[in-house]
Amino acid sequence: MPGFELFSDLERKEVNDVLDNGVLMRYGFDGMRKGHWKAKELESELEKTFGSSHVQLVSSGTAAVSVALASAGVGAGDEVIMPTFTFVASFEAIMMLGAIPVLVDIDDTLTLDPKAVEAAVTSKTKAVMVVQMCGSMADMDALRQVCNIHKLIFVEDACQAIGGTYKGKSLGSIADIGCFSFDFVKTITCGEGGAVVTNNNDYYINADHYSDHGHDHIGNDRGAETHPFLGYNFRISELHAAVGLAQIRRLPEFIAIQKKNYTILREALSQIPEVIFRTVPQGGEESYAFLNFFLPDAESAQKVSGAFKENGIDVCWNYYQNNWHYIRKWNHLKELKSLFPISKEVKEGLKYLQTKTFEQSDHYIARNISCLIKLSWTEDEVRARADKMVECITKIISKR
Ligand SMILES: *Cc1c(COP(=O)(O)O)cnc(C)c1O
Repeated sequence: MPGFELFSDLERKEVNDVLDNGVLMRYGFDGMRKGHWKAKELESELEKTFGSSHVQLVSSGTAAVSVALASAGVGAGDEVIMPTFTFVASFEAIMMLGAIPVLVDIDDTLTLDPKAVEAAVTSKTKAVMVVQMCGSMADMDALRQVCNIHKLIFVEDACQAIGGTYKGKSLGSIADIGCFSFDFVKTITCGEGGAVVTNNNDYYINADHYSDHGHDHIGNDRGAETHPFLGYNFRISELHAAVGLAQIRRLPEFIAIQKKNYTILREALSQIPEVIFRTVPQGGEESYAFLNFFLPDAESAQKVSGAFKENGIDVCWNYYQNNWHYIRKWNHLKELKSLFPISKEVKEGLKYLQTKTFEQSDHYIARNISCLIKLSWTEDEVRARADKMVECITKIISKR
């Protein structure tokens, strides 16, 4: 997955364009920049890639989620439904707006279970945020239906799934508003960066203004612009956008490499009847950024995870033991450790985290192994890795 593995002269050239004229900011300085508008160019490349009307670049994926929610009007006291298995950024981005994260179970897709979402809707629910984890997706039609019935905003975090599709549409472009991250370890990287994607013109205008102090971006005198509403600074720099511009043009190449490596590993593991791959909803195609599979029980998964480590099989995780991607070990969030006071409403709204258990999520996450697919592996390396993985799993399964 990490696009940095294949950095080349293409990235260097785009960055040098920016350094040559010295304009590192994405807005203004029209005369100095010699026609270089890297952020604007990257936005139009992304619009083409996703088949979306609008893309607003921002400073990170976490910023993208906050900006997306704010642009859709989510704020103080609103409940936002999100999955138990995600990156902590989902929780953080909701908290930043004074809204309340409502965690619900995932299913065998490793993403939001539509039935769990339906059961969690209350009169305070404002949005549902699906997170397309590890290169695949939720049942988007089922979630769309829940959102339509309850008139909820549908938000899609596709930070880990660039290049994946559902019924022919790019992941990240299917819900009302979508989010991407271009941080250093994502398939397409800017170093740091993110994007908000939408076909909704109002949301787009909101995101454009909100991510730059509320500037309306009319005319070419920044000091004379008006500010229709409160905003902050979540801008991307031209240097970061330049790296992303070179990278996005390579997306088809990166996805093809991921698919090739993924397929070799998957075919090898398919020989083991006890290995069950994650469910991909009908009409979905993964981005092949990860290969995810389930073992028969939690103990086997832990043992396999340990055996992988001992045998040099890196970049594979059992997220049940992980501090970053699963609710189980988010103690600082369960205990609401914050530098500044948190509103009574949010404190009240998060009390459930002290006691609520997520057996269904535990059932899937404890048995899951998630393997990152790297771009820089040679075919021989992937084949050797596949053999080693089969050997480790078979040994542990046969001893059960
Ligand atoms: C990486 C990631 C983010 C956050 O992106 P940053 O650019 O690191 O802030 C959000 N959600 C998911 C699912 C991610 O994988």
